Amino acid sequence: MTSISVAVPRETAPGEQRVALVPDAAGRLVKAGFTVTVERGAGAAAFCPDEAYQAAGARLADAATVCAGAQVVLRVRPPSPAEAALVAEGAVLIAFLQPVRDAEVLAILHQRRVTVLSMDRVPRTTKAQSMDALSSQAGVAGYEAVLIGAGALPKFLPMLVTAAGTLAPSTVLVLGAGVAGLQAIATARRLGANVRAYDVRPEVKEEVESLGATFVAAEAVAADARADQGYAKELGEEQQRRQEAALAKHVAEADLVITTAQIPGRPAPRIISEAMVASMKPGAVVVDLAAESGGNCAGSRPGETVVQGGVTIIGPANVASRMPLHASQMYARNVSTVLQYIVKDGAIVMDAEDVIVKAMRVVPEGGR
Ligand code: NAD
Repeated sequence: MTSISVAVPRETAPGEQRVALVPDAAGRLVKAGFTVTVERGAGAAAFCPDEAYQAAGARLADAATVCAGAQVVLRVRPPSPAEAALVAEGAVLIAFLQPVRDAEVLAILHQRRVTVLSMDRVPRTTKAQSMDALSSQAGVAGYEAVLIGAGALPKFLPMLVTAAGTLAPSTVLVLGAGVAGLQAIATARRLGANVRAYDVRPEVKEEVESLGATFVAAEAVAADARADQGYAKELGEEQQRRQEAALAKHVAEADLVITTAQIPGRPAPRIISEAMVASMKPGAVVVDLAAESGGNCAGSRPGETVVQGGVTIIGPANVASRMPLHASQMYARNVSTVLQYIVKDGAIVMDAEDVIVKAMRVVPEGGR
């Protein structure tokens, strides 16, 4: 048994509704011997009441004291400078450090000798799969993107045969078939749409087809758009031109386009040009999940909805937070697995040579 103390502060980033531990996960940690302290109201926006944490064996505290003396602080988003100053000296902070990789916050944490483990750096390996919060949250975002798009469409997604006539199904085009894209495809299929999908990585064709979608334009772009660890890399100019030409017809025919393409460490690739937007049907909708990292679609703006020539372009921000209960439940599982991974025989053991720790740890510039 361990008696390691864990703190869960309330998330204060604007619009953030998730919480790092749900009551069930808190209860599991308490049973494993951890002392868990949750800030009052931390789970409120995710529909996790204070009483549920108490019933699970967690303690409640206010913002000023929740982190006092805690050996580990679990968060979803990075702390503000003021919150970073409340993390106990020598503690471990586990949170998403991106997209707000704030130098001031990191300086405060490092000055306090806080070990920072960033959830957006979990390696994409089988061993680390249950810690992979990028995947769990991307799955939520892919699902939500379809619901956002369906809500903005002036038509049904499924085919309907009614006394008032037969309505053709909508065509959904999903660009980027990684974790978010595959969940978007599955969701759009469940809602009865005709689904087409495209990714620069031709190896996803089989997965796309097994979800009942058609893989398009596979032959248009060379299969070498693949970098280390299965991620995509940026396309050259000629490849990009061929990609646009191959996708133009599919974009023009789609009722709803969901874009999810990302290149790790780079701005999101521009896949839909202004001319392609202009070719779309009036009433068509684009949901650009990459809006916050530069956008896959011309004209998309993070956190905004833009209507251009009858086409609605939605750039939703922090999409996973729109479904806070399940997003938090999954994140809590990810973060608890990381926590239990760094605890050995009742003590925190930060093995600097461990591949997972090494990948996740954010060290000061020039430090170790
Ligand atoms: P991501 O968010 O980095 O990118 C989303 C998708 O966009 C990717 O499929 C990428 O190929 C695609 N893309 C990039 N440029 C494009 C372009 N110009 N046009 C069309 N599509 C483009 O990716 P992700 O969802 O995080 O997953 C990336 C890879 O990692 C996948 O192979 C996934 O299966 C793998 N993965 C492995 C594990 C694991 O082994 N534990 C976990 C998660 C993901």
